[in-house]
Amino acid sequence: MTTWFNETLYTGFRQSHEIKKVLFEGKSKYQKVVVFESGRFGRVLGLDGVVQCTEGDEFVYHEMLTHLPIMAHGNVKSVLIIGGGDGGILEEVLKHKSVKRATMVEIDDVVINVSKKYLTKICGKAFQDKRTNLIVGDGAKWVAETDERYDLIIVDRPDPIGPATVLFSREFYKNCQRVMKPGAILVAQNGVPHMQGPELTDAVKLFQKIWAHSGTYLAVVPTYVCGFMSLTWASDRDITDVDPRKVFQRFAKANLKGLNYYNPELHFGAFALPNFVARLLPAPKAAPKRTAKKKAAKKKR
Ligand code: SAM
Repeated sequence: MTTWFNETLYTGFRQSHEIKKVLFEGKSKYQKVVVFESGRFGRVLGLDGVVQCTEGDEFVYHEMLTHLPIMAHGNVKSVLIIGGGDGGILEEVLKHKSVKRATMVEIDDVVINVSKKYLTKICGKAFQDKRTNLIVGDGAKWVAETDERYDLIIVDRPDPIGPATVLFSREFYKNCQRVMKPGAILVAQNGVPHMQGPELTDAVKLFQKIWAHSGTYLAVVPTYVCGFMSLTWASDRDITDVDPRKVFQRFAKANLKGLNYYNPELHFGAFALPNFVARLLPAPKAAPKRTAKKKAAKKKR
């Protein structure tokens, strides 16, 4: 008799994965954790009944939430990953020789342990890398208290449920800004616009209140069902305004082997939004007005 993992993240709709074999099932201090062999996507990690990542398509999300900001920035040395317990983001970040240290703050050590044991196709040897600084703790608390500073913050959070709710708050974002170096970039997953539109709208509204520049780019992750996955960014500079030649040169220099999704052409294409997604975003923040004083000073020069 076939058994199924039924994800009912949205009312009136569900996705189901055939369970060939359960590899781990348990309840941690924070959530229900399951790892199973699925019928079509290899091994799957589920938290509280929601698909987090699968061997079959994790490359999309993990490549787009790492290589795009790293190529846009151009000189990322220190990275902070919030969440990301499956190690997929960490593994992609560490492909960059420029990265000297990657601090990962994951609240649930059960997720880390089951990923190390059952999801090595996703995390590889990332957890053993000497540049990895692994913290088991609340990401919101970390950014409020750390005296580390970062070139890139990747918020690899689940949906705003349980312990992750705090990772969608204004206070959390303000503290992220506190620990970002000049020119640093923050990226975060923000759900599937077709089903979670308000989550995207709320995040970008908050980003606009805190950072000079912010926006959204898209990726298609088959098991984050119902179309595009929105990935949001925020920085003190406009990361969409990078000379394409620079991104192509950085990509060639990075010599990233075996990517299955990210490439420099797609880097720029990902910022093109279909109308229904663009409509979810508040009007872009007006560029800071040139005051009369600044205009007069410019005239004098
Ligand atoms: N890739 C997935 C996605 O797109 O939704 C999420 C990856 S990862 C599994 C999400 C991780 O965030 C989980 O391991 C969860 O334990 C962790 N997490 C939730 N709340 C957290 C918090 N406040 N601080 C740190 N990690 C947290």
